Amino acid sequence: MKDRSLLMIPGPIEFEPEVLKALGAPTTSHVAPGFIDDFGGALEKMRKVWLAPEGQPFIVAGSGTLAMELAGANLVEPGDRALVLSTGVFGDRYEDLLARHGADVTVLRAPIGRTLDLNQVEDGLKGDRYKLLTVTHVDTSTAVRMPIRSIGELAQRHNVLSVVDGVCSVAGEEIRQGDWNLDVVLTASQKAIGVPPGLALLVASQRAMETFAARSTPVRSYYADWAKWMPIMAAYEGRKPSYFGTPAVNLVAALDVSLCQIVDEGMTARFARHELLAGAFRAGVRALGLDFVATERDHRANTLTACRYPEGVAAADLLSAIRSAGVIVAGGLHPEIKSEYFRVGHMGAVCMGDILATLGAIETGLRNVGHEVEAGIGVAAALEWQAGNKG
Ligand SMILES: *Cc1c(COP(=O)(O)O)cnc(C)c1O
Repeated sequence: MKDRSLLMIPGPIEFEPEVLKALGAPTTSHVAPGFIDDFGGALEKMRKVWLAPEGQPFIVAGSGTLAMELAGANLVEPGDRALVLSTGVFGDRYEDLLARHGADVTVLRAPIGRTLDLNQVEDGLKGDRYKLLTVTHVDTSTAVRMPIRSIGELAQRHNVLSVVDGVCSVAGEEIRQGDWNLDVVLTASQKAIGVPPGLALLVASQRAMETFAARSTPVRSYYADWAKWMPIMAAYEGRKPSYFGTPAVNLVAALDVSLCQIVDEGMTARFARHELLAGAFRAGVRALGLDFVATERDHRANTLTACRYPEGVAAADLLSAIRSAGVIVAGGLHPEIKSEYFRVGHMGAVCMGDILATLGAIETGLRNVGHEVEAGIGVAAALEWQAGNKG
């Protein structure tokens, strides 16, 4: 029998059958006309999904961390000053990464579960001449969402490049890269983009590409160097064969299918669906008596939720009880509070049925570890929320 458990973690997520079909198709040459068309089409659709009509898209085999490295390696030179806005584990990862490429890094770190105050960010930008700032849109270790539109405005005003780690947000949370003047927005295939792990994806602004072109030192990573990849992207988009490193043929074909589905849904509708489902899920979680890691309502992400365990419930017991009830959720990730919370991803092809199944499994899990909850209370609250917030 097919394993029918539902995967509700912050990536990899549940994938659409059409996407998996493309992944399972016979592998062609990376210069076969059909593949060139898939690659070129995927690049064109990325601009629509990122809402960045002037942007330069990149598709490179690797994970989200490579996407972070592509931005860092190409935009900083040794001695450049960088400001990292950290709301959790992935902000801290960017600190490490930029330092490795020789940047002089300053970190503004938010208390766990909170965002950074915009005045504090602006004060930081005023004082020092930074070349670049990074911000994690949704930090997957806390489910805190940063107001990247305002951060983009601040960066623009202070003439600093803005790099958005959107690995847990692109194609789920609202991002309008062009209108919001964000210089790099990066992600990975396995999150809200809806393709199995293996592709690093980013779109860079013209300003970012000009900064790259003006470098006085070579990029310190051979594989990540945009100078190697730019001609490849240009060739495929022009429907011509090209080669630097063998592209992940099947994954790129699957990406083209998924981006097509995303564009068909429409970005505004897609953002609204994520918002509606996240609201319904949080209403259910709240009704079950659980609290959130993200302290402020407006800072809670629409792509995943970090839920605190109720008093007296042990992490390992509840996670395995939820799994036995048919839904796989993720444990804590932030080292300081790891054992105090669990994470539920609700992005990509997620639907109300998935939300209700997950709330039902959490309820069953709670009961099976001896924590009494009223039957059906979480599911009822989610349905009620949906009825009150539709359209
Ligand atoms: C998942 C994630 C990453 C890392 O992506 P990998 O594919 O695991 O390398 C980076 N940043 C954020 C916000 C993420 O959610």
